[in-house]
Amino acid sequence: MDKSKREFIKGGFATLVAAGTSANAFTLQNPGRDAKDSRYIGNKLKQYSMIIDLRQCIGCQACTSACMVENSVPNGQNRTFVTEMEIGEFPNVRKSFLPQLCNHCDDPACVPVCPTGATFKREDGIVVVDSEVCWGCGYCENACPYDKRFMNKETKVIDKCTFCAHRVDEGLLPACVETCVGGARIFGDLKDKNSEISKLLANFPTTVLKNEQGTKPQVFYIGLDGRVENLLNATVSLDDMMREVIGLKPKEWATQRGDK
Ligand code: SF4
Ligand code: SF4
Ligand code: SF4
Repeated sequence: MDKSKREFIKGGFATLVAAGTSANAFTLQNPGRDAKDSRYIGNKLKQYSMIIDLRQCIGCQACTSACMVENSVPNGQNRTFVTEMEIGEFPNVRKSFLPQLCNHCDDPACVPVCPTGATFKREDGIVVVDSEVCWGCGYCENACPYDKRFMNKETKVIDKCTFCAHRVDEGLLPACVETCVGGARIFGDLKDKNSEISKLLANFPTTVLKNEQGTKPQVFYIGLDGRVENLLNATVSLDDMMREVIGLKPKEWATQRGDK
């Protein structure tokens, strides 16, 4: 979104707030959402989800790289990342890998706080951001209990996993799913009872992250160890985890991310 457009919208927002209208009380029309355009509304006969089978993840970060290339994510930022953790105590220590991305929640905390309608849920369950409409206020970034949104340092608007909706609309798999060497990421339509994802959900116990947040995540994990969940909850943010994994000091990490 160009700067002048964002400033124009922000100006309009400021006027409305000054007139006593709260940020949540109105939604500017999203000109990018055309009810006839499946790229925006998706296919209402489908409900897309992902299962991540942690037994198959080897922590290679092939998904992380594939996502960055496919979606032109700037260096130092990520729509998905595989966190590496050590669990247990010496001598019984083992490595555990936890791939994370937007959970495409059924009741997403990020959607109702967006004052412009830039963040919305398609009819096929994919939660997206219209970068032409986002003004970069960051309300959604603060609202997401999973820390799965970030300000793209190049576009200056909010970015996150889209389940590669542009590929899905063409009948392709998300880039991270196609690239996963271990076959740990399974993507599909939960409304199709014969899909691989439906069968896996029906036959394996699965867990979602931070279930207590009540957002009904649609990324399910097989083999999630409770100790990993505890470690995850104890860590402040994905950024901090990445910094620790890469082994940078906070200042070096900020420089790599391009923070001012
Ligand atoms: S994980 Fe966060 S960004 Fe993704 S849909 Fe849920 S609340 Fe929104
Ligand atoms: S930053 Fe988030 S809440 Fe603000 S306009 Fe963009 S998508 Fe909506
Ligand atoms: S589904 Fe697409 S956007 Fe989401 S993490 Fe995978 S590659 Fe990235």
